[in-house]
Amino acid sequence: MPDNAGEYITRLFSAEDNLLASLRADEGRLLQVLLTAIGARRVLEVGTLGGYSAICMARALPTNGSVLSLEIEEKHAAFARRYIERANLSDRIEVRVGRALEILPALDGQRFDAVFIDADKEPMPTYFEWAVRLVRPGGLIIGDNALFHGRVYDSSVDDARTQGVREFNRRMATDPRVLGIVVPTHDGVAVAIVR
Ligand code: SAH
Ligand code: MG
Repeated sequence: MPDNAGEYITRLFSAEDNLLASLRADEGRLLQVLLTAIGARRVLEVGTLGGYSAICMARALPTNGSVLSLEIEEKHAAFARRYIERANLSDRIEVRVGRALEILPALDGQRFDAVFIDADKEPMPTYFEWAVRLVRPGGLIIGDNALFHGRVYDSSVDDARTQGVREFNRRMATDPRVLGIVVPTHDGVAVAIVR
């Protein structure tokens, strides 16, 4: 039996924590396999949060590689930068604060090997268009939460966010400029190669 509050609480939640941790690890590993497969050097991320995926991705890049991650919330960016520092990746990851739709036009003309889209869902079709513009031929567009907790295939759900994910998936699957698929991980990851 645990003999203090901290241990009691840790044990109480550990089964769930291990599950979540392994889900996160799988997702991180999928990103690393994909980036390594295309020899990625330069990655754009939309949605930093705590920096988990940015750190995973940066670890799969060569030492001269870089991740530019966009985050709307200053407090998330500050948190992420602390962890990026602890991971010794401050020279490979830049977190830029602002609304993605306002930052993306400033990146026009730049070339990325991959874009990982993992932020707000309503503008996902617009994020797709930016990704097609910014990713080099043979590079990857990756969209998280492609199943959106099952909402995308629930016909009783039709809010703006779900519509955003559905339209994003439709473009990933049918836009002739890309070749895409939805990988049915716990919440779905859409992956497309730019032709
Ligand atoms: N990619 C992270 C998780 C991101 S969660 C990981 O896997 O570890 C989604 C993040 O997107 C949140 O931190 C949220 O603040 C941010 N976000 C939401 N809307 C945004 C917007 N319009 N522009 C930039 N970031 C946004
Ligand atoms: Mg996500």
